Amino acid sequence: MKNWPKMNLAAGPVELTERTLRDQSRPVLYHYDPAFIELFEHTSALLQKVYQTRYDVIIMQGEAILGLEAAAACLISPGDKVLNLVSGVFGKWFELFIEKYGGEAVELAVPYNDAVDPEDVRAALKRTPGIKFLSVVHSETPSGTVNAVQAIGPIAREFGVLTIVDTVSGLGGEPLCPEEWGIDVAVAGPQKCLGGPPGLSLMAISPEAWKVMEGRKSPVRGSFLSILDWKNAWLEQQRFPYTPSVSDIYALESVLSQVLEEGVARYAARHAAIGRACRAGIKALGLSLWAAHEEIAGNAVTAVKIPEGLSDKQLRGHMRERYGVMISGGYGELAGQLFRLGHMGKAAHPTYLAAQLAILERTLADLGWPIELGTGVGAAMATLNDWDDSK
Ligand SMILES: *Cc1c(COP(=O)(O)O)cnc(C)c1O
Repeated sequence: MKNWPKMNLAAGPVELTERTLRDQSRPVLYHYDPAFIELFEHTSALLQKVYQTRYDVIIMQGEAILGLEAAAACLISPGDKVLNLVSGVFGKWFELFIEKYGGEAVELAVPYNDAVDPEDVRAALKRTPGIKFLSVVHSETPSGTVNAVQAIGPIAREFGVLTIVDTVSGLGGEPLCPEEWGIDVAVAGPQKCLGGPPGLSLMAISPEAWKVMEGRKSPVRGSFLSILDWKNAWLEQQRFPYTPSVSDIYALESVLSQVLEEGVARYAARHAAIGRACRAGIKALGLSLWAAHEEIAGNAVTAVKIPEGLSDKQLRGHMRERYGVMISGGYGELAGQLFRLGHMGKAAHPTYLAAQLAILERTLADLGWPIELGTGVGAAMATLNDWDDSK
């Protein structure tokens, strides 16, 4: 049997707080027990608060890819044009769903270390008549970058285009306002910045999006992918289309409560502060950020180019084997080009960042890379002079 890591600082799933672990392990209730109905209702209300929205929220019972595919399946009719923004692996992935459901993907792509310029979105919408949907990834976790959804969504709305946002690693860690930002369908996951276990799709749905789903020639119903089944069953009758993942809902209620107790804005600001500190540490070590410019670096993870002369396998393998610290490498097309330091959920804290950077430094030194131990940790901590958990 393999030894387990001392710290899981991967790009998700992430470590759970003790409170979440405890709450998740409560006795499993029958899903029609009044106590579970109450808990599911309460959890939905908490999710609405964390999303800062009055839109309906739907909790689909499968990892966030389910929510993303469900959005495509329920919204896109054959022949619909979808402007798909691609700035990384997940943006490109969504194209497969668009095409699978008969849509016509119109791609607006930038290199995977960059973000889409909102003005280019406007130009694309002007240039291509008949676009019905726009899809965009908020936080491109594999690249450690963010797209300016707050600017892109309102542009799409000007053109009467519905916006589908993958905010799987955005919710919690980045600011997000569905109504104000012109988002029609948002999909998040508990296992990234919210610091929960994987297994659910957390969705916010605008009235316009419901209208499109219901007004289609053949609305998607009677399917695991049907968001309408959840609307009809849960929102309209407090019933479930099938048995929900009871223990995952306990964990979700727990992490959402923890976010709200801290405050949504403060929770995101904590992630932003640790992201900034992490980048300062990386730069001080003479390493290069993957993001083309720092303004587009996200709060969930910090992506770093693999230093010349080292391999991903050496670097991450060493951290994991020698020191028990698990971090993520490049994903998909980015494999071998970068590694990612995770700072989501409880890891968005100086303690975890200090440990992570210190072990990275120790690893680099072990591998013969010229650094002075403490340089990165020092630079990171120097940015955190205002930190105070007691406030
Ligand atoms: C984690 C994540 C998903 C979910 O994908 P998995 O490969 O199942 O983890 C989708 N989109 C983004 C941006 C993510 O970070």
